[in-house]
Amino acid sequence: MSDDVRNVAIIGSGPAGLTAAIYSARASLEPLVIEGEPSSTGDQPGGQLMLTTEVENFPGFPEGIMGPELMMNCRAQAARFGADLRTEKVTKIDLSSRPFNIWVGDPDAAEPTYRAKSVIISTGAKALMLELPNEQRLIGRGVSTCATCDGFFFRDQDIIMVGGGDSAMEEANFLTKFAKTVTVVHRRDELRASQIMQDRAMANPKINFMWNTVVTDVLGEEAMTGVALENVLTGEKTQMDATGLFIAIGHRPNTDLFKGQLEMKDNGYLVTAHDSTATNVEGVFACGDVQDDKYRQAITAAGSGCAAALDAERWLEH
Ligand code: NAP
Repeated sequence: MSDDVRNVAIIGSGPAGLTAAIYSARASLEPLVIEGEPSSTGDQPGGQLMLTTEVENFPGFPEGIMGPELMMNCRAQAARFGADLRTEKVTKIDLSSRPFNIWVGDPDAAEPTYRAKSVIISTGAKALMLELPNEQRLIGRGVSTCATCDGFFFRDQDIIMVGGGDSAMEEANFLTKFAKTVTVVHRRDELRASQIMQDRAMANPKINFMWNTVVTDVLGEEAMTGVALENVLTGEKTQMDATGLFIAIGHRPNTDLFKGQLEMKDNGYLVTAHDSTATNVEGVFACGDVQDDKYRQAITAAGSGCAAALDAERWLEH
């Protein structure tokens, strides 16, 4: 452990974390950014944009920009102003004493790896996936978890939507602005979505429903060409041509590290004060998808990352 106590430690390096890093570095706070490590469970320095292809709705890029390129640019911008970026994963954090103690590597080590006066949490969320054999390989090549981000690329195409909740209905409706057809594949014969969302989807002539059915794999080499399906009642296996598979089966915030330490909603998202990024522990701020179960956009995450840096800066001043 180094003896120095950091002004601010930022955990996570998606749009929220890196924007917080840019702002706090420019405020001469010399932020430590623990950006995460790639893992088989989908963890990714740079966050969810590292798993997308072209981003067309981030202001400032009239021709669009590739998700990974956008994040590498943000990272370089943070480094340029002196952010100390570490490709490491936090394994334990203690927010009960001051300065706050942070471990990477062995969580049972007696001494923490880092100490910080304030912490900005930007660990993001993960879209739940179906865990199909070829799902990860075809992400960004037909498979998507974000209709708002990717729907535009599916003009006049046939799309499969998996899920029976409000997100699936909302996204299916949204996708019909572009797609030729959207087939909702649901594992039961009843939707979980609210009645109004169901009614809207059912009234949409471009949306079809396939009940009691699960997607068992995504087909295609360079890009998706179809899906393999199984009827869960009869066991019948079929295939269906489609160039898009949108998965809307829920999200999970990356908040395991903070259980028992920070206030969370029932769905695991961190609670922040109204009109602020402050959590229930003074000096600890949260931004981006880890505290946002509503908008979940790169630009809203970046905006809240800016707010967290300003909140931390003001808190440190006082
Ligand atoms: P959700 O309500 O949890 O629905 C998830 C859906 O995915 C369910 O239909 C579930 O099937 C299905 N599912 C889960 N795991 C699956 C798997 N492995 N394979 C196949 N299907 C699977 O999630 P959500 O739709 O993202 O909504 C989250 C929350 O946000 C909800 O409270 C929702 O009301 C809210 N929301 C509101 C709006 C709105 O009001 N405009 C829009 C979006 C979201 P089962 O039904 O069989 O469990």
